[in-house]
Amino acid sequence: MAAEYGFDTLQIHAGANPDPATGARQVPIYQNTAYVFRDADHAAALFNLQELGYIYSRLTNPTVAALQERVAALEGGVGAVACSSGHAAQIMALFPLMMPGANFVTSNRLYGGSVTQFAQTFKRFGWEARFVDFEDTSAIRKNIDENTKAIFCESIANPGGYITDLDKIGKIADKAKLPLIVDNTSATPYLCRPFEHGATQVVHSTTKYLSGNGTSMGGIVVDSGNFDWTASGKHPSMIESEPAYHGLKFHETFGPLAYTFHGIAIGLRDLGMTAAPMNAFQTLLGIETLSLRMEKHVANAKKVAKYLQGHKAVEYVSYAGLSDNPYARRAKKYTPKGAGALFTFGVKGGYDACVKVVDNVEIFSHVANLGDTRSLIIHSASTTHRQLTDEQRVAAGAGPEVVRVSIGIEDPNDLIADLDQALTKATAKSKRKKK
Ligand SMILES: *Cc1c(COP(=O)(O)O)cnc(C)c1O
Repeated sequence: MAAEYGFDTLQIHAGANPDPATGARQVPIYQNTAYVFRDADHAAALFNLQELGYIYSRLTNPTVAALQERVAALEGGVGAVACSSGHAAQIMALFPLMMPGANFVTSNRLYGGSVTQFAQTFKRFGWEARFVDFEDTSAIRKNIDENTKAIFCESIANPGGYITDLDKIGKIADKAKLPLIVDNTSATPYLCRPFEHGATQVVHSTTKYLSGNGTSMGGIVVDSGNFDWTASGKHPSMIESEPAYHGLKFHETFGPLAYTFHGIAIGLRDLGMTAAPMNAFQTLLGIETLSLRMEKHVANAKKVAKYLQGHKAVEYVSYAGLSDNPYARRAKKYTPKGAGALFTFGVKGGYDACVKVVDNVEIFSHVANLGDTRSLIIHSASTTHRQLTDEQRVAAGAGPEVVRVSIGIEDPNDLIADLDQALTKATAKSKRKKK
């Protein structure tokens, strides 16, 4: 699919040619494990990576391949590897780069699950995550050493819609000859294009906006094809002989597709974090309406955020889509179509009032998720950040008074009315209790 097509065309057509066997217009669900070889020579060529084709669905599947092609097109990348979840995608993104004793420098403003995955579980692989405040660029530079293999951050990050200064981070990565991996989940390629700001790889939890309807777990790693593995020389898996493929060297053999092929031929083959065809299909359906949904998500988020700013029970609203937010200018640069639909606000009355807000909403769902068509709400201090100390919670932007919302695509007036009645009940009750 020609990359010159507009986003709205690509989100429907990229990766979706009529099915060669039947002419089916929509991408068929190839709910299938193995593929018949034409003959022994064909099988040998496939196993040697001399010919591309389908062997076994742990590595490649036509429905999953359509999703990979579509997301690669939307991000402006050369290839993508779909995985079973966003967390799987993060392991898959780092796997070709890391080894025991290696480290990567990561923003400390991350999805809560990513903090745990990076800080705890990666340690068992011998991978060290160095958490840094990405507002402090000298701290990023100081943490890079000869064992550093990558830099990681989110485009729009939790909490309160923090916007990363991608161009600045991209320059640091480029100078250090390191890949910059950007988690673009909260922005989606419709709102932010990290490859235009120095990112070399993008990861997504497709579970969120790309699927959009809360049905399907999934993740994806997209490669820009722009990173020169040979010139960097820091990632042996990408440049040195691979014993499992008769000494094949990925960068030398596959050029800009080296990282994608490594992800499939080594990553999926041996880690097995494969996307299910049914989930890939659901995600493809979701992506067909991505731009329409994101426009509505952003418009609704702005309306609700502005309303909350004027509400007497609300202390503050933290959303880069509001003009007085410290990241509003950055949002205009990196997310020109809108600063996403995820934000936090502080409720007067603290912890107790917040618990009452989440207990009293009717349209908003109290869930640990984001990026659904439905509006979602959570009080981080009593749920996702419950295990942290008070200090850690405040540092993570999840203090006792903070409520996080993921604004859906319902009627914004209904969302406003719902929050108003919940806030009124919550603060009225907490006042009475205090007396
Ligand atoms: C949800 C999420 C993840 C993890 O994705 P799963 O699909 O839940 O494994 C990673 N990063 C961000 C920003 C997310 O929102």
